[in-house]
Amino acid sequence: MKSRKPLVAGNWKMNGDIVTNEHLFTALRSALERASISQVEVVICPPFPYLGQAGAWLGDTGIAWGAQNVAAAPNGALTGEVSVSMLLDLGCKWAIVGHSERRTLLGESSELIGRKAELCAAAGLGVIACVGETLAEREASHTDAVLARQVDALVPALRAADPARAVVAYEPVWAIGTGRTASPEMAQEAHAFIRARMADGGVAGADAIRIVYGGSVKPANAVTLFSMPDVDGGLIGGASLVADEFLNICRAAA
Ligand code: PGA
Repeated sequence: MKSRKPLVAGNWKMNGDIVTNEHLFTALRSALERASISQVEVVICPPFPYLGQAGAWLGDTGIAWGAQNVAAAPNGALTGEVSVSMLLDLGCKWAIVGHSERRTLLGESSELIGRKAELCAAAGLGVIACVGETLAEREASHTDAVLARQVDALVPALRAADPARAVVAYEPVWAIGTGRTASPEMAQEAHAFIRARMADGGVAGADAIRIVYGGSVKPANAVTLFSMPDVDGGLIGGASLVADEFLNICRAAA
């Protein structure tokens, strides 16, 4: 039994509509009643427009909801962005920052992501900060250097955050949505590196901060991944859109 409570978060990405979401929320609610997963912290991250819907459907369950992104500035003149205080207003407990799709496709820098994480930490909004190397970086043996740079940019936020409300998600870019998963040993090596890097950076809560794995997690590979000593749960993309798969992944973390 790990001392850290496992956390499993579903990242719906840019998927869903009101009707489909209703089906998924209904299925999650009834599956949750059958499952005994109170020892796992479960989070659903739908797109921004559906956060209110998530609150309506999940408010009386133990499942939390969160956003997939947040602005790097407080309320003000920043057209099209959504702030930390707005997420808190919608009952969000968490925000994902630094997902590789935003780093690569939208050009978000580690510094910008660090700033977002700091705003979350300052306001008491839980942060799930994603880090991970590309295939080219892994093949060039640059994984540690890339992780070090990305983690270092998060250190000020992680030092300021309540360790129970700070999560780092190790998501090797080559494993996201590809069906290719890091082996449990690979994941453990990266997670141990991230934990040591946080501690070296002066993050006092490094041992208490959960480090979750993301990248093609399915019920079939979740058990072995989550059994590794520094793998404290998962960030789930595709499989989070299928209630039974997601719940089985949550069970694997229990
Ligand atoms: P995947 O996505 O589970 O579909 O690979 C994970 C993620 O991008 O967070």
